[in-house]
Amino acid sequence: MSRENIDENIIIEIKGVNKWYGKFHVLKDINLNVRKGEKVVVCGPSGSGKSTLIRTINYLETHEEGDIIVDGVKLVDDVKRIQEIQRDVGMVFQQFNLFPHLTVKTNVMLSPIWVKKLPKAQAEKRAMELLTRVGIADQADKFPGQLSGGQQQRVAIARALAMDPKIMLFDEPTSALDPEMIKEVLDVMRELADQGMTMVCVTHEMGFAKEVADTMVFMEDGIIVEYATAKEFFTSPKEGRTRQFLEQIL
Ligand code: ADP
Ligand code: MG
Repeated sequence: MSRENIDENIIIEIKGVNKWYGKFHVLKDINLNVRKGEKVVVCGPSGSGKSTLIRTINYLETHEEGDIIVDGVKLVDDVKRIQEIQRDVGMVFQQFNLFPHLTVKTNVMLSPIWVKKLPKAQAEKRAMELLTRVGIADQADKFPGQLSGGQQQRVAIARALAMDPKIMLFDEPTSALDPEMIKEVLDVMRELADQGMTMVCVTHEMGFAKEVADTMVFMEDGIIVEYATAKEFFTSPKEGRTRQFLEQIL
């Protein structure tokens, strides 16, 4: 893949970002660019700052130093602009985070109605299209608690897609799932990738990463230790720590 003329295609630009939780330096001089349509997989040991990093991209976490520019908008403490960005960046969490007291369909309809002021009938139509796309239209009138983990995570993906995001962030979306349900979620993510979505995924599903990722990022102790194309990463990682990590999880 050509790395020339990279600038006009960049949709996420992270420059010299540092973040602390109190005295704990959690992100250390992070630099990372993501191009439109690029699939980036972030991996690394627990506690290395992966969740914190992807949460800074949609301002669920603030950073103290450096710049994050998402689709041309610099993330600063401007509530209106942050809301714009949060609209354009969908996020899927390990723990689904669905509203338990609302039906599956209502979970998917909620943000388009509240945030985008979409008429209810239109939001409902769109919700059903998205639930069909993730293969669970037949579950639309159930409550999240009545669904399997894999189905709930597919609802969460449909809910994020309902805002027509330009970027999708995934934070270990299959880590809370039983093994037999992992595939159904990864299949939905793979399809999204094929359709050209820009994706940043924290995951240890290396089979998925090999297939889908353009770029691999390995983090440890708040540092990006290795940044490489997926091919380089899996065939000839430069850093010893990356090799050690891969040996442990592959
Ligand atoms: P990862 O996703 O790679 O497991 P995290 O980004 O969740 O890592 O966390 C990185 C480090 O920051 C961990 O040591 C964690 O305990 C710490 N941490 C995460 N969130 C907070 C918080 N809200 N306050 C203080 N420390 C935190
Ligand atoms: Mg995490």
